[in-house]
Amino acid sequence: MAISVTFVPFKNRLTMAYIEPAPIVDKENPFEAMMSRFHTAAQILGLEEQVYNVLKSPAKQVTVSLPVTMDDGTIKVFEGYRVIHSTILGPSKGGIRFDPEVNIDEVKALAAWMTWKCAVVDIPYGGAKGGVACQPREMSAGEIERLMRAYTQAMSDVFGPDQDIPAPDMGTGPREMAWLMDQYSRNKGMTVSAVVTGKPIVMGGSLGRTEATGRGVMVTALAAMEKLKINPFKATCAVQGFGNVGSWAAQLLEDRGLKILSISDVSGAYFNDHGIDIQDALKYRDAHKGSLEGYKGAEKITNEELLTLPVDLLVPAAKEDVITHLNAPKIQAKLIVEGANGPTSSKADGIIYEKGISVVPDILANAGGVTVSYFEWVQNRLGYKWTAERVNRRSDRIMKDAFDNVYRVSNEYKVSMRIAAYMVAIDKVAKTYKFRGGF
Ligand code: GLU
Repeated sequence: MAISVTFVPFKNRLTMAYIEPAPIVDKENPFEAMMSRFHTAAQILGLEEQVYNVLKSPAKQVTVSLPVTMDDGTIKVFEGYRVIHSTILGPSKGGIRFDPEVNIDEVKALAAWMTWKCAVVDIPYGGAKGGVACQPREMSAGEIERLMRAYTQAMSDVFGPDQDIPAPDMGTGPREMAWLMDQYSRNKGMTVSAVVTGKPIVMGGSLGRTEATGRGVMVTALAAMEKLKINPFKATCAVQGFGNVGSWAAQLLEDRGLKILSISDVSGAYFNDHGIDIQDALKYRDAHKGSLEGYKGAEKITNEELLTLPVDLLVPAAKEDVITHLNAPKIQAKLIVEGANGPTSSKADGIIYEKGISVVPDILANAGGVTVSYFEWVQNRLGYKWTAERVNRRSDRIMKDAFDNVYRVSNEYKVSMRIAAYMVAIDKVAKTYKFRGGF
């Protein structure tokens, strides 16, 4: 499935001249980081002013206060968000993040990234994101369940299988999606499986969904290594973050022959010159409340040291803004494949490009998750189940085709793969917008 890219002629570039470049600040606001790439890609595409303004503005932003009874009987009020960036390509799609640092600017950026991500892999969805500012690690299962049900209740007019389809993100997983599906279904008086993806397999989740994001990271990393002539059996790798995305990426890359020299989580980073045994690290993590604290299979290093190790492949798979203008000059990896959303600040982009480091950007590299979410939604609507083999084969093909398309555009326009991915995405959404029209 090749994405056809035809561009607006370059002469239209002039129409963009009046737009101020996005400001660059020290600690980057994720929305501004997203906008600065959007701006560059839109300029190269020669996007008209009015379409630029449509695509940069989130379609809908909902903020809710969620009073939840805690286990000690007190009532705590949480702030929850859902931002729908775009529904131009289809119903909006995107995860729900439970994290203390959740704020409206982060959710707005993540929602826009979902729009571009779905467009890059050519699936018929717009983009959205939700979040609740909370610390799930310090909450009981009962408290998290009540919070998830309160959030779903508050968003019951926003969500819908043809409207807006949530999924897991940082701090949430299949268990939370099950509560969401149940609460939404109770409201409607019938079971509505397709309202959410990333559900447990027994209740309509798709085989392959849990590992899908990490698998897409592996597929795009191997595709990029082939272009760079890096032999995976001789390659070394560092993975920052050992949650769902990082731990699956590490396992699957190890399976394909790479030596994983370093991994990390909130407890710190771990390094072993001979390669970390990922299965061993996973066993340790699962036996120690999800943390690598005290892991003996490697020596402890700092997170900054992990990012600047002399490895072939660096996979940032934790949060936004970890590769910045401050550490970018010290990065030694030949290739960065972004498992996280927004791990590289826009100010670091230029430094990395100048150093000749290739980057498979987030909106391409981590799109395997939403791709298999799409398959889950399709299966729910068909009332049918696919085998893991079918899911993996189809998602691998989508990821590989998307990679090839972005790579081609980056060569054709002599731009980074990040800007090329934005160009592919913006071009697709802009063309669809023009066909659909508006008021
Ligand atoms: N939260 C994931 C992401 O950032 C998955 C979204 C989805 O499956 O809808 O891509």
